[in-house]
Amino acid sequence: MAVADPLIELRGVNKHYGALHVLRSIDLTVGRGEVVVVIGPSGSGKSTLCRAMNRLESVESGEIVIDGKPLPEEGKALARLRAEVGMVFQSFNLFAHKTVLANVSLAQTKVRKRRKEEADRRSRALLDRVGLAAHADKYPAQLSGGQQQRVAIARALAMDPKALLFDEPTSALDPEMINEVLEVMQQLARDGMTMVVVTHEMGFARSAANRVVFMADGRIVEQAAPEEFFSNPRSDRAREFLSKIL
Ligand code: ADP
Ligand code: MG
Repeated sequence: MAVADPLIELRGVNKHYGALHVLRSIDLTVGRGEVVVVIGPSGSGKSTLCRAMNRLESVESGEIVIDGKPLPEEGKALARLRAEVGMVFQSFNLFAHKTVLANVSLAQTKVRKRRKEEADRRSRALLDRVGLAAHADKYPAQLSGGQQQRVAIARALAMDPKALLFDEPTSALDPEMINEVLEVMQQLARDGMTMVVVTHEMGFARSAANRVVFMADGRIVEQAAPEEFFSNPRSDRAREFLSKIL
């Protein structure tokens, strides 16, 4: 699929866990400003794909190129890359013993080398953006799951990422909290953030995605614009998957 201004490019990416071939010749290009939603059955390799994109997982073969540069193997270049391609997980992974403000500021001072005052100023602006300005001095346990996930999004944004990866960001949330997180993500999409989102929220896929990527058994089986994918899935696997979840 031709993409005008590639930001994330995977070419021929393969990975095994022992005998299990979890990523099979993955070719995927994500354009700058594009929102790609990745769906597929449990165990199809969606999380591994996300983690490969910022090298939380190594891969055995193939190329991963971020903004024209090959993904670094290790060291400072890798830390920089991880700051440029942020990740938001199902479990929010906040530091329990630090305030909300400190959670958002910490990596800014450590990785971006910002002064604490500067980091805190940016953190407060980001907390305002995700609707949590009033909660800066609380601890994570004092917040709801939806609020904690919005803190995690603010923390990822604080690194000025070129792209954000979301791995099932609403799967651990009570139903009434899902929308507040999806609304923040919708706003990010409208603001032009490049996003790769693994999710089961098909409403989000329909309204926010430029493209839906359907994975099964470690392969990208098909990819298409959401209206096309949902109304006219081409593969049996996709049809079967959609019949179970829609
Ligand atoms: P998904 O996110 O689509 O559910 P994953 O990428 O988490 O799929 O997993 C793909 C396959 O790889 C699954 O069969 C899973 O059990 C297996 N797997 C994932 N992580 C590991 C690991 N660290 N070691 C061994 N197998 C793993
Ligand atoms: Mg997963």
